[in-house]
Amino acid sequence: MSIAPWLQHSLLQVQQLKVSGGLSHALLITGADGVGQESLAFEMAKDLMCESEQASACGQCHSCQLMAADTHPDFRVLDGESGTIKVDQIRNLVQKITQKPQVGQTKVVLISHAQSMNINAANAVLKALEEPSDRTFFLLTSSQSSRLLPTIRSRCLLVSVPTPNVEQVDAWLAEHNQEANLSRLFWLTTQPFRLLSIEKNQKAELFLSLPEKVNQFLQQEMTVAELLKGLDSQNIEDYCNGLAAILHQSLCHSAGAPIHPALEAVYANLIRRIGIRALMDRYQAIQNLKLALQKTNLNPIMQLTNELNQW
Ligand SMILES: [Zn+2]
Repeated sequence: MSIAPWLQHSLLQVQQLKVSGGLSHALLITGADGVGQESLAFEMAKDLMCESEQASACGQCHSCQLMAADTHPDFRVLDGESGTIKVDQIRNLVQKITQKPQVGQTKVVLISHAQSMNINAANAVLKALEEPSDRTFFLLTSSQSSRLLPTIRSRCLLVSVPTPNVEQVDAWLAEHNQEANLSRLFWLTTQPFRLLSIEKNQKAELFLSLPEKVNQFLQQEMTVAELLKGLDSQNIEDYCNGLAAILHQSLCHSAGAPIHPALEAVYANLIRRIGIRALMDRYQAIQNLKLALQKTNLNPIMQLTNELNQW
C-alpha cells in the first residue's frame, strides 16, 4: 500500500532533512487518532534504516530487505495501543540500542501511542533522549501529545499529520479496493486508518448492520435480545461506539448538519420515540457506560439491555 497523500508532505520533509544530515535524533509525530501517524512513522523508519545515501528507502539493500521482512534487529518497536508502556520495557529497549548496530549503521526506536508511557517509562525515554547515541533515532507517535512530558516534546522535532477531508478519505479507500466499501461507515468515523482496522479485524459487518437493526428495534420489529445477539465482553465497546455514533450524528442532524443516508430512517424513529431532548441524555449514558465497563466487572449485556430499554 503506497503512503496516503496527506502523509506525503511530512515524509518528504523528513527525507530532505535526512539527506542534508540535519535530521533531529528524535521525532514526535502527532495527529488525530486514525489519520495514519503509525503508517507515516513506519515509512520514516524504513527510509532511515536504508543503507543507501538516497532520501527514500532503496528497497534493495540488506537493511531494506530485513525491514520488509519485519526482522531487522536494529529496529525496535513498542506500541502502547493496548496498554500502559512500563519502565522495564523502555530499559530493555535502551539497553539493546546502546549496543552496536548489527546490520547497517543506524538504529531506530519506534514508540507508538507514546501517551501510554507511565511516568517512569517517560523519564527513561527522556534520559535516552538527553544522551543520544550516534545514528540512533527515536520516532514517537501520539494522538494526545499534551499528555507527554513537556521535556520530551521539547527534545523532538514535531511532525504534525493533517486530518484528511471526507473526499480525500473516500478517494483513498476506493483506490484500495475495499470489499466492504468502507465509505458506508462514514457515519461512524471518517478516520481512514480506523476504517481499515475495522475491516482488518472483521468488524465491518457488525457496524454496517447496526443502523438497520436499531431501526427495527425502534419500530418494535426486533427485541433487545435480537439486537444484541453476538454481543460479548470482547465487542461491547464496538456496540457502545456504534450506538454512541448513531446518537451523536442524530444530535448533529437535529442542529442542522446533514445526516448519512444509512441513518436517515433511524433518526426519524429516534425523534418519534424519544425526542430531541432525550438524545443528549442517551448519548451521555452510553459514554458513561463505556467508562464504567473499563473499570468494573459489570455484566455488559445486562447494562446495554437496560440502556436500550430506555430508547
Ligand atoms: Zn535500502
